[in-house]
Amino acid sequence: MDIDYIDIGVNLLDESFKKDLDEVLDRAFSANVCVLINTSSSIEDAKRSLDLTKKYPSKIFSTAGIHPHNASSGDDQLKESLIGILQNDSMVAIGECGLDYFRNLSTKEEQLLVFKTHLEVAKETGLPLFLHQRDAHDDFTHCLNDVFDSSVHGVAHCFTGNTDQMKTYLDMGLYIGITGWICDERRNHELIKAVKELPLDRVLIETDSPYLIPRSLKRSRRNEPMNISIIAEKLAKEMGVELSTLANHLVTNSKKLFNLSN
Ligand SMILES: [Zn+2]
Repeated sequence: MDIDYIDIGVNLLDESFKKDLDEVLDRAFSANVCVLINTSSSIEDAKRSLDLTKKYPSKIFSTAGIHPHNASSGDDQLKESLIGILQNDSMVAIGECGLDYFRNLSTKEEQLLVFKTHLEVAKETGLPLFLHQRDAHDDFTHCLNDVFDSSVHGVAHCFTGNTDQMKTYLDMGLYIGITGWICDERRNHELIKAVKELPLDRVLIETDSPYLIPRSLKRSRRNEPMNISIIAEKLAKEMGVELSTLANHLVTNSKKLFNLSN
């Protein structure tokens, strides 16, 4: 039986895919990755990503938003720009957006301002959020709780935290996005403990290609969406469920959160 996958977080416009993107996508489709959601990290990026979705209709979808690293590029027009581009059917989520105090490539003030704009857009459009958080858990949860009185519609993408953080996100209504981080025995201990308590109706997977290559493949440097089954297999093992059971939930959850038809 073939298992279908939806890779909810890929960076297909990364430089490293420039030469052979079509082949990368062919390999992904051959590996039963039936849908990919490309992550945008700036308005420029979102426009290029929109073009890509038009080239692969109903196979590639996209987010639109400004990564916290790029928050200094946010201007007065940000809200209108986002709402404009999100009107396209292939744009299925707002992000990636959030807070990153690990590298602070934009100032905290810039990050907070831009994040709040994304949250307003989420409230107005009803679209799900594709959320990034690093070393900013408290401010991040405050911002979300300030804007949403009921549950937040979105995913904590590339979740690498511990059980307590995961439970906070689950209580807020978020889905949890698991990457190849879970395959890295040097730093996956807390995450493995957490996923044992992750409900099947809140889990999603993403390769975050070309980043976060599963450690078992460390001889090749670039990650590709075709590697998603390695994450799914490891995750099924750690969650203590059959791969086919997990895979069914992953597809159902992805379709539900991002409102993908068929
Ligand atoms: Zn991220």
